Amino acid sequence: MNSTHLLVAADAVSRQYGQGLSAVVAVSTATCEVEPGARIALVGPSGSGKSTLLQLLGGLDVPDGGQIAWPALGSRDELRPGKVAYVFQTPSLLPALSVVENVELPLLLGNRAPALARRAACASLDQLGLTHLAERLPEELSGGQAQRVAVARALVAKPRLILADEPTGQLDHATAAQLLDSLLAALVGTDTALLIATHDRAVAGRMERSWQMQHGILEVS
Ligand code: ADP
Ligand code: MG
Repeated sequence: MNSTHLLVAADAVSRQYGQGLSAVVAVSTATCEVEPGARIALVGPSGSGKSTLLQLLGGLDVPDGGQIAWPALGSRDELRPGKVAYVFQTPSLLPALSVVENVELPLLLGNRAPALARRAACASLDQLGLTHLAERLPEELSGGQAQRVAVARALVAKPRLILADEPTGQLDHATAAQLLDSLLAALVGTDTALLIATHDRAVAGRMERSWQMQHGILEVS
C-alpha cells in the first residue's frame, strides 16, 4: 500500500532507559501510523510508555530499535519548528515573554517576518478566545489559561501533527472539556492530525480512535 501520505509511521520501535538489570523498556516494538486528519487518544496508566512513544513519534527522541519515518513531512530534522507541534501536561511557556510573544515564538524560530508572526499569533489567540490576555506574563495566568496559550502556540504555525501529552492532566473536568472543545474546534476544516495521551476517559471518548498502552506494549485499533 502507498504510505507516502502518512504523517508518521513507526515499525517495531523500542526505547529502553538504562542498562543491564536496571534497564526499563519504556516502549517495546510499537507499530503504528498516523494519517492526516486523525483524532487518536493514546490511553494507558502512568508509566506505561505514553510520553516516550510521543517523543519518538515527534522525533524528540530516537528509538533503540525499529524504524520510524515521517513520509509526508520529511526527515527528523525537518519536523520542527512548524510541522509537528507539542502540548505538554505542565504549561511550558517561557516566563520572561508575554503571552503573545510566547505564541509567536515558533514562527520567529522558523524565520517568519516579525510582523507576520505577530499577526498570526494574534489570530491564534483570537481563535482560542485569549486576545484579552495577550500582554500578560505567564505567571499572571491560571492553569487553564496557560494551557490555552500553549494550545494557541501549538496551532500558530499550522502544524500537520499535534502531539499532546496529557494536556488536561492538571485541569478540573470543566476546564479540561473547554480546552479540548477549543482545540477540536480549531482543527475543524484542517487536515491536522491530533494524537493525545490521556488517562481521562472523557477526553478519550471525544477522539475517533483509542490506542492502548500497557507496560510499554502498544495496541492500536
Ligand atoms: P507515561 O507517559 O505513560 O507515564 P513514560 O513514557 O513517561 O510513561 O515512562 C515509561 C517508563 O519509562 C516508566 O517506567 C518510566 O519510569 C521510564 N522512564 C521514562 N523516562 C525515563 C528517563 N528519562 N530515564 C529513565 N527512565 C525513564
Ligand atoms: Mg507521561
